[in-house]
Amino acid sequence: MNTELSNSLKGQAWGLFIDGQSVPAEDESTITIFSPANREPIATIARATANDISKAVETAQAGYKEWAKLTAYQRESIIKKAAAYVRTQADRIGMLMALEQGKPFNQAKAEIIGSCDTIEYFASEAVRVEGYVNQTEKAGVFSIVKYYPVGVCALITPWNYPVSLLSWKLGPALAVGCSVVVKPTTVTPLSPMAFCMALVEGGIPARVISVLTGQGSVVGDVLVKHPLVKKVAMTGSTATGKKLMQTVAPYLKKISLELGGQCPAIVCADADIINAATVIAYKGFRNMGQSCSSINRVYVHVSKHQSLVAELKKNAEKLTIGDGVTDGAADLGPMATADGITTTKQHIEDAIGKGASLVTGGRAPEGGQYEKGFYFMPTILDNCHAGMKVMQEETFGCVVAVETFETLEEAVNKANDTNYGLVAYAFTKDFKTSMHLGDTLEAGTVCVNSGAVNTNYAPYAGWKDSGYGVELSRNAVFEYLETKHIKVEAI
Ligand code: NAD
Repeated sequence: MNTELSNSLKGQAWGLFIDGQSVPAEDESTITIFSPANREPIATIARATANDISKAVETAQAGYKEWAKLTAYQRESIIKKAAAYVRTQADRIGMLMALEQGKPFNQAKAEIIGSCDTIEYFASEAVRVEGYVNQTEKAGVFSIVKYYPVGVCALITPWNYPVSLLSWKLGPALAVGCSVVVKPTTVTPLSPMAFCMALVEGGIPARVISVLTGQGSVVGDVLVKHPLVKKVAMTGSTATGKKLMQTVAPYLKKISLELGGQCPAIVCADADIINAATVIAYKGFRNMGQSCSSINRVYVHVSKHQSLVAELKKNAEKLTIGDGVTDGAADLGPMATADGITTTKQHIEDAIGKGASLVTGGRAPEGGQYEKGFYFMPTILDNCHAGMKVMQEETFGCVVAVETFETLEEAVNKANDTNYGLVAYAFTKDFKTSMHLGDTLEAGTVCVNSGAVNTNYAPYAGWKDSGYGVELSRNAVFEYLETKHIKVEAI
């Protein structure tokens, strides 16, 4: 099934998605998308011009006017029907993701299904946007607080979880009555485009969702400056996030940013080592470590050092690596980009040059099937320290670095000693220690004994250089709303 499906999806020319139509760029220019598994061309996308961007935003503004007029109950019902339709397309959209991003088909398909769950979660939130009525200073005076959709939102997304991270923005935006212009990356434009098209096929009004493709620094920049765009939601690197914030500052637009991570894990003396190693290997290597919540660095109590490293090695070496398109059940596919391989290698070389020892991996797997793609083996580095890049910078590759500690205070200080603050992990059987770490680790999420970081019901927020604002949970809904106080003196 996989080969037949993937072959049927290759070689297409994808347009911009505006007003329910797939249209070429005004100047008909295109960009070719390549497979990370073999570097062969997969498809072409349109490179949006400034006029195309204006057209998409004006269409979205018209869409917003219609969509915001519906009741929350009407929007909930339309969105849920559309999400149900998208579920029927999960094989096709998942395969597009496997082709362009490299992640194994089964994981890509699961991402589409999970994204439908998120869209539905937020559709349910639509009817829970409640204002409130205040007590007032005088009889006959009424004070009512209400929330209104902000308007057209620019949704700018990265390539590592190209549909999931879109759904985190699309879900709340659509639910509260905003329209959107989506700008995926040129690495993975196809699956988010297909996801948005399917939502419209499933019943979301065409003018409510547009998708623009082209270089982020050009299309994204023009898009966020457009006067009709009232809100920008972006997931990506810290450098791009800071740039975007500067770009929109003169216009005082609402903005939320989910940015980079450099996530630590503390393994305490009383930790269940089998569980800790399983979770660390999962969070360190899943999606080839290309996740903002990947575990980059591990601080293990000296008493558990040897046993943890041995278990981690076992876990890393049993992971299967394959072409995610033809080998959909593989644990790992290729990395998405050549840059990813370069950074991974640089971090490994830097660490080894400064005294780290290579426990496993450190190179591409051997064999003809791996020669053309961006493949790399899951890598564990031991005896690391804070002077190494792998302990300070986001590798965004399949490397886990290990350092020891003697006291918990030392571990917390080490874990907090970066500019990032997205997710921190801890492993302990003691509830008091769990809560102490929960309170003292500087991160938007602290996850103890588990790698299940993201849930629709809880907020995901980056501290320090890891973000601005909140995604997921009912808190995220307010990122897409304006607040209004209506005061009436009845005379
Ligand atoms: P990136 O910063 O290169 O690009 C992100 C998006 O911004 C892309 O769509 C890109 O085209 C666009 N863009 C680039 N320059 C722009 C500009 N000047 N104006 C407007 N848009 C512009 O990030 P990436 O390489 O696609 O993704 C990887 C990064 O994303 C990593 O740092 C990772 O940690 C981060 N990330 C964070 C989270 C989170 O929730 N915190 C989740 C996943 C990924």
